[in-house]
Amino acid sequence: MAALEQKASDEPGLGFSTRAIHHGYDPALNARALSPPIHMTSTFAFDGVAEMDAAAALGGRLYAREYNPTTALLESRLANLEGAEDAVVLASGMAAFAAFSLSLLSQGDELIVHRMLYSNTTTMTEQGLPRFGINAVPVDLRNPANLDTVLTPRSKGVYFETPVNPTGDVLDIEAIAHRARQAGLLVIVDGTFASPALQRPLQHGADIVLHSLTKYISGHGDLLGGALLGTHGLIEKIRDRGLRYITGAVLSPMASSLILRGMKTLPLRMDRHGSTALAIARMLEAHPAVAWVNYPFLASHARHSIAKRQMSAGTGMLSFGLRGGFEAARRFLDNLKLITLAVSLGDVETLIFHPASLVRARLAVRPEARLQRGVEDDLIRLSVGLEDQADLLRDLEQSLSRL
Ligand SMILES: *Cc1c(COP(=O)(O)O)cnc(C)c1O
Repeated sequence: MAALEQKASDEPGLGFSTRAIHHGYDPALNARALSPPIHMTSTFAFDGVAEMDAAAALGGRLYAREYNPTTALLESRLANLEGAEDAVVLASGMAAFAAFSLSLLSQGDELIVHRMLYSNTTTMTEQGLPRFGINAVPVDLRNPANLDTVLTPRSKGVYFETPVNPTGDVLDIEAIAHRARQAGLLVIVDGTFASPALQRPLQHGADIVLHSLTKYISGHGDLLGGALLGTHGLIEKIRDRGLRYITGAVLSPMASSLILRGMKTLPLRMDRHGSTALAIARMLEAHPAVAWVNYPFLASHARHSIAKRQMSAGTGMLSFGLRGGFEAARRFLDNLKLITLAVSLGDVETLIFHPASLVRARLAVRPEARLQRGVEDDLIRLSVGLEDQADLLRDLEQSLSRL
């Protein structure tokens, strides 16, 4: 398995983009293939029992649920970029949440969560975890002192996203982590909206970072994936319990390869996502039909200083509301010509959706469907892609002018 070992030239001090392209891979050890091979195999073959014993002793490199060389390269590169000791990748962001929570939490434990989370994470905390005797306690972490008001002897961890889905608002990682650590809690941050190119929560006191690789990190809207990053001890626990026998939600080597390819342009893409999003946020903020804009890299944003402290630049994610509210949001989306109506985010295509419309439609099949706490029915979420800035501005402006 030496094929994908770290190469000698992979020295510290190399920049983020260089590591995103080269870390952990040496063509000389891989038949001189420039691009890492995709190891499509479910199991590994050995010459003798002693050799098989040796692979088993390495932590079980016998079967593709415990090891795959292509996936191991992805994990090593992700850990390097995040500044983490170790990483484990899984079949989706939700698989990562399940693996973390079902590996590290037990019956009777409480997980403190920010009151606004990705909608399916909210469903997992409200309907999934309680079935296993784990209670999620929502609180508004925009004021980190609120953490203290919900602490009990059963509190085991605090979980939040920053930037937050779907608003794009930011939470103060350092302030929350400081309070959580004093109380002996594990701090888990979902950094999907920023990616390690813009924000590395471990440097600000987090213990574990979760990413949906489906979004910016892969960046091309062609797969699902998830990752958990942190100390070797924590990640190994999750790999050995959550992945191996609780969820079994392994990422396919094909997906690992596509994610490795996407990651090579991550810093370049984030740069462009952020600069176009800022131009769009400024246009929206000045437009008479727009009631409010939430983009933390606008100087007018209430938490601009927190965003600048923990992120190197803005992302492509923003939210806004129109003066015409719910009905205007629907007309506005219908009148867009270039921008694509779709959920998901972080892709090269600019994607837009209106959560309140989706919730209304879902009520027909799921009577308990409702908007996230704190999400108003005028909120429009925009994931700014990589098209020409002028074309995106023109499309938004023509639709605003027809309201
Ligand atoms: C999409 C998303 C997830 C879930 O990831 P999947 O890959 O879709 O399972 C989790 N957190 C955030 C913030 C997300 O945007």
